[in-house]
Amino acid sequence: MDKEHKKKREYMRRWYARNLEHAREMSRKYSQKHKEANKQRSRRWNKDNAEYKKARDKKYAQGHKKEIQEHKRHFRQQLLDGYGGKCQCPGGCDITEPEFLTIDHIYRDGQQERKKNKGSYAIYKRLITEEFPKDRYRLLCHNCNSAKRYGRLCPHERKH
Ligand SMILES: [Zn+2]
Ligand SMILES: [Zn+2]
Repeated sequence: MDKEHKKKREYMRRWYARNLEHAREMSRKYSQKHKEANKQRSRRWNKDNAEYKKARDKKYAQGHKKEIQEHKRHFRQQLLDGYGGKCQCPGGCDITEPEFLTIDHIYRDGQQERKKNKGSYAIYKRLITEEFPKDRYRLLCHNCNSAKRYGRLCPHERKH
């Protein structure tokens, strides 16, 4: 029995030595096959999970419309207050109505940044955590904002 076993092992050893390439290829194929299966499994998991999250968020949004609205309003108010609470046009403009105000990206790179940060919410959230950095952002009303586009002066500034 033991002798038989030894013989078998010896045979396998020789077989591997003779078929090294083949053996390697087989194990490579094996792991590749499983790699694909693993990849697929995690892909499926991500997809299921994303759908689950989406459904959960939707359900939450439906049941908490008021809270969400309130949160958005509060969030925006925090941002506006942090940036002075009124239009910061250097020509003097005293618009304070939140509905008229917007965060101006001084270097006009808002679009790129939104892409990088996946939406403006992420940027604004960062501005709040960083305590309202004023080097790249300022608060303007929509009128001054569109007048100052492309580096032009706002009519308010021309008056002075
Ligand atoms: Zn203004
Ligand atoms: Zn202005």
